Amino acid sequence: MARIICVANQKGGVGKTTTSVNLAAALSEMSRQVLIVDMDPQGNASSGLGVKRYENQDNNIYQVLIGEKSIHETIQSTQIKNLDIVPANPDLVGAEIELVDMPQREYRLKSALREVSGKYHYILIDCPPSLGLLTVNSLSAAETFLVPLQCEYYALEGLSQLLNTAGLIKKSLNTDLRIEGIVLTMFDARNNLSHQVVAEIQSHFAEKVFSAIIPRNVRLSEAPSHGQTIFQYDPKSIGAKKYKELAEELDGRVYGHKESESTPAQVVASDSGQESEIYV
Ligand code: ATP
Ligand code: MG
Repeated sequence: MARIICVANQKGGVGKTTTSVNLAAALSEMSRQVLIVDMDPQGNASSGLGVKRYENQDNNIYQVLIGEKSIHETIQSTQIKNLDIVPANPDLVGAEIELVDMPQREYRLKSALREVSGKYHYILIDCPPSLGLLTVNSLSAAETFLVPLQCEYYALEGLSQLLNTAGLIKKSLNTDLRIEGIVLTMFDARNNLSHQVVAEIQSHFAEKVFSAIIPRNVRLSEAPSHGQTIFQYDPKSIGAKKYKELAEELDGRVYGHKESESTPAQVVASDSGQESEIYV
């Protein structure tokens, strides 16, 4: 069965999609079978992987969620070997509203993914920047969630809200949900603040922070406009190197023997000053 990982952070522009796409591509280069599910109406993961909008008009995740299509009908292969995608387009905005009255509304994605989980090593779900029903469906379907955090002053802002939401979902909808890890993104070595943020997050979250830190790298931001991953666009760039390291680290945790399943729960102060448990 696939490891289903939800890439989530309700804060916008922190590197969710860049991480989903390039981590997926790096894993597929390691001969892992990977499916990306684009759960964001912006469809950035879809366009970043070269899926044209007109090509997915009638075959996208919206149709799966509202029960119009089976997930099999919507899976597309990409230009990258071993990497498939279920794309999204702006229709998905409607799903937030339409799902409200549907039976099993929080489990629509989960039941769809059950049908294809056996075909993949990894399923990565790229979430929108919100904690609405699309993210709730994603967290309900996932075994773990991975949080990209931008190395900037407000990095921790909203994190406790995400962790609280994950905690609620763990209590009610998905008792097995765990945090996969935190990926630090857009690190700028020349900026003292970046170093401070890294130190602070590592001291809070210890081994849950991936050692591979993603630097700010202009090649990473250029690649999607060509519909390419960093491995197609500039495989020698530092961005490509670091996403490859991240993939190896993740794969070691998931399928290798480096996994430390029994790490104790970490505790973090929430916005309200209370302590909230992070599920690891
Ligand atoms: P949203 O919340 O809108 O879905 P997101 O969290 O998915 O955003 P991205 O789209 O991955 O974030 O990244 C936001 C912007 O920053 C994009 O323009 C992207 O190309 C750029 N970017 C992401 N990571 C890096 C990086 N390491 N170096 C330079 N630019 C980056
Ligand atoms: Mg995104």
